[in-house]
Amino acid sequence: MKNLKITLLLVGLFLFPIIGLANDVIKDDPEQNISETEFQTRRLEMVEKQIRKRGIRDRVILDSFRKVPRHRFVPEDLKYLAYNDHPLPIGEAQPISQPYIVAFMTEALNLSRSDKILEIGTGSGYQAAILGELCDSVFTIEIIASLGNRAKLLLEELDYQNIKVKVGDGYLGWEAYAPFDAIIVTCAPTREPSNLKNQLKEGGRMIIPVGSSYSQNLVLLRKANNQLLEEKILPVLFVPMVDPSGKKY
Ligand code: SAH
Repeated sequence: MKNLKITLLLVGLFLFPIIGLANDVIKDDPEQNISETEFQTRRLEMVEKQIRKRGIRDRVILDSFRKVPRHRFVPEDLKYLAYNDHPLPIGEAQPISQPYIVAFMTEALNLSRSDKILEIGTGSGYQAAILGELCDSVFTIEIIASLGNRAKLLLEELDYQNIKVKVGDGYLGWEAYAPFDAIIVTCAPTREPSNLKNQLKEGGRMIIPVGSSYSQNLVLLRKANNQLLEEKILPVLFVPMVDPSGKKY
């Protein structure tokens, strides 16, 4: 009995500073101690409320959003906001898109498991990871080296062996791997780049925001009989597509 009391006392003495420390951390920012289970709960809720309820019903697409750990793609101090219904800053004045817009553009591309995809604007790498879950291979280009390199490391760490990241100017496309079944552009040029149109396969689809910095439309293009059919889908606001000197295309 006496031994037990001593043991409890000792445990108490050791635990006190740990609990005290933990309390301090909690006081500073209650959201910094989120467990993986809690992130998963939030992720499933995001899929249900922000994506499925808004009309995206493709089970394979929904499953990809249930699987990809979005909180790993946002800065450490913003992880607690990772599953909220809005874009977030990822550094270099660039954003990770709102979950719904990622899902909407993914669905619009009408993807098949065997597809080879080109993405322009890797950013955090989140959209690329979603595509990596759904397709055979993903080629993604980011013009800002620090973002591209970070996304590359993270995608490797998460074991996406079918995603290739390149730091470079996506306006030119990626000739070495062309043509692509689908092209997704997550930054907005003033006009659709002709290189990208040329790198689309017959039967291929491209989704791209087009317009000025303040007014853009999401455009869906389909290549049929070597002609491009164009459909404006909805008004959007993406960051501009820029050249290596930072000027908007
Ligand atoms: N798809 C991203 C969101 C990217 S935001 C995600 O899931 O997180 C748009 C990105 O396009 C920015 O990172 C920006 O640096 C990049 N970008 C702008 N112009 C570009 C260009 N010419 N080539 C490649 N990337 C470009």
